[in-house]
Amino acid sequence: MILSFFILVTMHSNQDYSLQNNNSFNFKASCSRIYFPSSLADLQQLPDFTTDEATGNAAENFYILGEGSNTLFVEAKAPIIIQPKFTGIDISEQEDHFIVTVGAAENWHDLVCFCLKRGVNGLENLALIPGSVGAAPVQNIGAYGVEFADFCQAVQWYEFSSKTILSLSKEACNFAYRDSIFKQENYNKGLITQVTFKFSKAWQANLSYAGLDVLAKNSTAKEVMAEVIVLRSSKLPDPKKLPNAGSFFKNPIVSHDVFTQLQQQYPNIPHYFQHNPQKQSQPSGEVKLAAGWLIDQAGLKGFRHNGVGVHQQQALVLVNYESEWGTDIICLAKYIQRVVAEKFSVALIPEVRMITQQGEQSFLSLSDNNPIGNINHD
Ligand SMILES: Cc1cc2nc3c(=O)[nH]c(=O)nc-3n(C[C@H](O)[C@H](O)[C@H](O)COP(=O)(O)OP(=O)(O)OC[C@H]3O[C@@H](n4cnc5c(N)ncnc54)[C@H](O)[C@@H]3O)c2cc1C
Repeated sequence: MILSFFILVTMHSNQDYSLQNNNSFNFKASCSRIYFPSSLADLQQLPDFTTDEATGNAAENFYILGEGSNTLFVEAKAPIIIQPKFTGIDISEQEDHFIVTVGAAENWHDLVCFCLKRGVNGLENLALIPGSVGAAPVQNIGAYGVEFADFCQAVQWYEFSSKTILSLSKEACNFAYRDSIFKQENYNKGLITQVTFKFSKAWQANLSYAGLDVLAKNSTAKEVMAEVIVLRSSKLPDPKKLPNAGSFFKNPIVSHDVFTQLQQQYPNIPHYFQHNPQKQSQPSGEVKLAAGWLIDQAGLKGFRHNGVGVHQQQALVLVNYESEWGTDIICLAKYIQRVVAEKFSVALIPEVRMITQQGEQSFLSLSDNNPIGNINHD
C-alpha cells in the first residue's frame, strides 16, 4: 500500500503544470494533470484512456508528450499530459550486427552520439534532430536521405486496452513518409516505451543527399555526423535561440499530372519522384514537391505578423519571435496555406501536432480567429 502510494505521487502532478518549457515554440500553456510513467506498474495505474470504439473518444482528453519539438499548444489550457519517462540504452553485439534498445524518454541526438562513440554506425545522417526517441517512430523522422525506419527492428508499445507492453515489428509499424501506425490505427490507443534498433556491422556512409556529396566516399560515420551538424546549424534556427518546431508543413505529394502542369509554368520547381513502397525500383506515379520552395516563391519568406513569422533563410520553418500564444502561429499558417493554394493549387498540410484542451485537433478544424488580410508579396 505504502509502495503503490509512493509510485503514484512520483508518477504524476495534480497542480497546474506549466508546459512553456516543454514545447520548442515556447508558447504559454498549462495542464491540470501530468503523468510521468517510467515502468509497467506506473502505466497500469494510469486512468482509463481507452477509446470508445463507437464515438472514437477517450473518457478523458489527453496528449502524449515527448520533448514538444513537434507540438503546438494552441490554447492556454492543454489536456491531461502523459510524458513517458522510460530511460536507458542497451547495446548488444552480435556476429554481424548490433541490437540497441533505448527508452522512449532518451534524447534522440544524445542517442546518435552515444552509438557513434561506441562504434555503432547508422544514425549519423539523423544527428541534431530535436526530440525524444519515443517520438521518432511516430512520424518516422527523416533527414539527409535516411529515416528512422531504416534501422528499426521493433517498437515496444503499451496498449491501454490490454494494459500490456507489446513488441511491434518494423513491418507492423507501417512506416511511410512522416507516417506510421502510431498516427493511424494505433493513434491514441497506447504509447511507446522503448525502441529496438538493428545496425549492420557492414556499414557504408550514405552520402546520396545534396550537401553530403562533398564528403569523400571513405568518410567515417563521425565525419558524416559532423557535416550533418554543420549543414543543419547553417540552415535551421536553433529552437533555444529562436523558438520553432522545425518544418511546419509536410512536403506535398501530388499526382504526375499535377506535377507536369506545374513544371510547365515553373520549369525549376524542385521535385522528387516517389517510389512504390513495396518495390522501391518502381516509380509510384507520385511526385513530392518542396513545401519551402512553394512558400518562398509565394513571396512569404521573412514575412512577419503578430510576433511570429516565416524564417528569413528557411521558408518551411515558422518561428516565434515574441508571441506568447500558439493561436498566432495558426493564423500565420492558415494565411500561408491560403496564399500557396491560390498561387499553385497545392494544399499544404502541417507536420506539427496541434493541441487544445480537447486533445489533438486537425488543422482544418481550428478556427482562424484573426485572419490576415490580403497582402501583396511581390
Ligand atoms: C529545429 C527542428 C528541426 C527538426 N528537424 C526535423 C527533421 O529533420 N526531420 C524530422 O523528421 N523531424 C524534424 N523535426 C521535428 C521533431 O524533431 C520530430 O518530430 C521529433 O521526433 C519530435 O520529438 P518530440 O519528443 O519533441 O515529440 P513531441 O513534439 O513531444 O511529440 C510528437 C508526436 O509524437 C507523439 N509521441 C511523443 N512521445 C511518444 C511516445 N512515447 N509514445 C507515443 N507517442 C509519442 C506525440 O503524441 C506527438 O504526436 C525538427 C524539429 C525542430 C524543432
